[in-house]
Amino acid sequence: MTSKPAIYLDYNATAPIRPEAREAVLRAFELAGNPSSVHAAGRAARDVVETARKQVGQLVGVVAGSVTFVSGGTEANALAIDSAVASGVKRIVVSAIEHEAVAETAAMSGVAVEVLPVGAHGVTDLSGLAELLAGEGRTLVCLMLANNETGVIQPVAEASAIVRAADGLLHVDAVQAAGKIAIDFSALGADTLALSAHKIGGPQGVGALVAGTRANVVRRLHGGGQERGRRAGTENVAGIAGFGAAASAALRDLPQAADQGIWRDALAQRVKDAGGVVLGEGVPRLPQTLCLAAEGFASQVQVMNLDLAGVMASAGSACSSGKVKASRVVEAMGRPDLAPFALRVSGGWASTEQDWIVCGDAWLAAWKRIGARRREVA
Ligand code: PLP
Repeated sequence: MTSKPAIYLDYNATAPIRPEAREAVLRAFELAGNPSSVHAAGRAARDVVETARKQVGQLVGVVAGSVTFVSGGTEANALAIDSAVASGVKRIVVSAIEHEAVAETAAMSGVAVEVLPVGAHGVTDLSGLAELLAGEGRTLVCLMLANNETGVIQPVAEASAIVRAADGLLHVDAVQAAGKIAIDFSALGADTLALSAHKIGGPQGVGALVAGTRANVVRRLHGGGQERGRRAGTENVAGIAGFGAAASAALRDLPQAADQGIWRDALAQRVKDAGGVVLGEGVPRLPQTLCLAAEGFASQVQVMNLDLAGVMASAGSACSSGKVKASRVVEAMGRPDLAPFALRVSGGWASTEQDWIVCGDAWLAAWKRIGARRREVA
């Protein structure tokens, strides 16, 4: 029996580790030192951390000093929100499609939370933002750069102009956008920005918060004075080394990232020709993300059928405990009817045109079988 090679198209859940990142991790494992130690081994480890800080900064156009290493995108978002609350914000405004790491941290923050709606294409509607910011006290606005389910790019620079005019703060979750589109922290007008290594081909369990001069990042973990007192605990040297190497490789590969869009659109066309729907089409999107839906073809059934054909994709965001829930992003786009039928296909640095074609073949074959079964029952 010949076994078909597995096709991985779930990069928005996590990307396979890039060879450059793997090598950097392994090299760092050879170092014995604690970056806080002053002896030679300690200085070597410190060097690795500071090189990676520069590399991660370069990915988003900031100097190394703006980068604080944390345990991942979730912690980066939490650090940004907690810092804003500690600095006295009275309200948090979040888009309706923020990742749970932002939405739930805001909900638990103890200050009032307001939600900005999204339009039918999945773009956040900023028309009510100025009014929300006009209330008493300072406001933190959280707007992701690109959505994890649809890939739709959000109007961050426009939001920033409104936020700055009202003397508010803007936090940007760039976990999904990083490495897929060019990011310039200053041009976005963000005060803080969250990154995660494993979404760009680095290791899991490491991320960064980028902070501009208006943000006051507070200490959440107490202990040693690591990360300039912002995040105590001996640094994850190997993870950070892999993050830095992945950031450099992702920046280098950005010109090729657009190729995925051509292959993604070809699959989208096949889905539409077969009666499926593509969500977030017609607005700027990450080139490698496809969110589709086909009424009557439940998300988990799509995922299972693809898996049987050796193709890995996911239903909605599904990045926790393997549970499959109806997509709240699709619901927020005004299509609750399609939410139970959404599928996310996401490629990345190692994906090929053939991967997208085989995924399309498998999806269409399964969709045909489902259609035939439904006709038999009817
Ligand atoms: N923000 C977004 C938009 C994400 O998609 C994810 C993970 O799926 C996170 C934050 C959380 O990142 P991490 O897994 O590194 O904690």
